[in-house]
Amino acid sequence: MNGASLPTEAIFLLFLAAWAGFLFFSFSRNAALKRRWFALYVAALGLVLGGVATFAAARSRTMESLIVVFPALALWGFLTVRQIRFCDACGASVHRLGALRDPPKSCPKCGAPLERTGGPPK
Ligand SMILES: [Zn+2]
Repeated sequence: MNGASLPTEAIFLLFLAAWAGFLFFSFSRNAALKRRWFALYVAALGLVLGGVATFAAARSRTMESLIVVFPALALWGFLTVRQIRFCDACGASVHRLGALRDPPKSCPKCGAPLERTGGPPK
């Protein structure tokens, strides 16, 4: 093998943690808890993806590609946190496809108004 490699166990644990988070945010009905942790989850996922991209770029000696990767990850994280809301009434995770569209204002399942993700817990 040429150069350093990420340990397989670390990759597996990161993959498992990412999936556990995805399942939690998809299926948990605790909107307050999801709202509290979602931005941090997206930031952590962005850091992991940025780390993998950095590792791959260093390995292939294409570090200049990170000029595109990091702003793209930051934009992805911002838009993801902006577009996803959690319904306090029924606990649903509500997202709207289309990065430039307005975030959803009401829950499509129960019709309750939706609050912004992040911010101080209530
Ligand atoms: Zn709802």
